[in-house]
Amino acid sequence: MTDAPDIPIRVRPEIAALPPYKQGRQAGSDAFKLSSNENPFDPLPGVVEALQSTTAVNRYPDASAARLRERLAARFGVGPDEVHIGAGSVSILAQLVQATAGPGDEVIYAWRSFEAYPWLAIVAGAKGVQVPLTEDARHDLPAMAAAITDRTRAVIVCSPNNPTGPIVTQAEFDAFVAQVPADVLVMLDEAYSEFVTDPEAVDGARVLASGAHPNVVVLRTFSKAFGLAGLRVGYAIGHRRILDAARSTSIPLSVTAQAEVAAIASLDAEADLLARVAEIAERRDRLADALRETGWRVPAAQGNFVWLPAGDETLSVGQAFDDAGLIVRPFAGDGIRISVGEEAAVQRIVAVAASVIDDLPAGHRGIQASVTR
Ligand SMILES: *Cc1c(COP(=O)(O)O)cnc(C)c1O
Repeated sequence: MTDAPDIPIRVRPEIAALPPYKQGRQAGSDAFKLSSNENPFDPLPGVVEALQSTTAVNRYPDASAARLRERLAARFGVGPDEVHIGAGSVSILAQLVQATAGPGDEVIYAWRSFEAYPWLAIVAGAKGVQVPLTEDARHDLPAMAAAITDRTRAVIVCSPNNPTGPIVTQAEFDAFVAQVPADVLVMLDEAYSEFVTDPEAVDGARVLASGAHPNVVVLRTFSKAFGLAGLRVGYAIGHRRILDAARSTSIPLSVTAQAEVAAIASLDAEADLLARVAEIAERRDRLADALRETGWRVPAAQGNFVWLPAGDETLSVGQAFDDAGLIVRPFAGDGIRISVGEEAAVQRIVAVAASVIDDLPAGHRGIQASVTR
């Protein structure tokens, strides 16, 4: 039990040791909020109408979100029981980690990656095993495979990787999964899959269709490309019995009727939404190229965000963005993630990046090797 002096009750020590959650700052009126990888576009009219038609908030939602499950099942060519809906895909990740790993067990993931992963393992009472990214900020899948022990219960692969941006290729993923014991869960977190333009990228739908690896579960969300972050809805596709285990650890009725109808309306409006996604992907490529032209070493960006490896200078560089009315997400000692938001923010981002790069010490890892200063 804890001896944390400021907690009035006994709390599990590993929980007491967790830093309190800090959300990305809310933007002031003239600032751009580029800290949470949100979609800058307003919801489409069909989505707003669907929400307005769901006013029976005195009733509980359908516990299994059957209509949305059927819709997604048809799209992925699977049965409805091979789809599981959660209040955001983060909650499904938590369910799957809880279902597979407890005290003494290990959960492997790349680092740096999604900030929720360490927390998922700790809350389950398991041990998180972090495998460093490569020099170019990509998953080191051979090293992740080598990290598997007989205590490993789950591995998380994030493609494109949040917050650094690169994808895992299909070939890399296939070679990796072939090395993972068949009874170890592999969660392929594809929160940003809709933004991917690299044809080499792993595609969870293809992995599932091959049927070769029933231990792989694919996770996607309506929060990013579909712009429903505020409603909390995501999904997993995979083996029925694995998803049953997730359902058993889930908090019942946490997916609201509003989230379900908005997700269905978004799928109805998919063509319009994907046109917006293409616009964001184009803006991302332009932003990443412009940042590289300033001399920053920006890794491949395949999500709706770019990464500046600011290292030890992260907090001071982050402050420069803040001063310019750009709310970004600094990860102290490592780098800065900047979401691709409004078009009007692009030039401002590039201007700040160009102004701070001269302050970086010579040989800093955030500066491209070819740039001589
Ligand atoms: C945003 C994100 C998610 C899911 O977010 P939800 O809003 O909970 O659906 C999952 N994984 C990664 C890597 C993310 O960045």
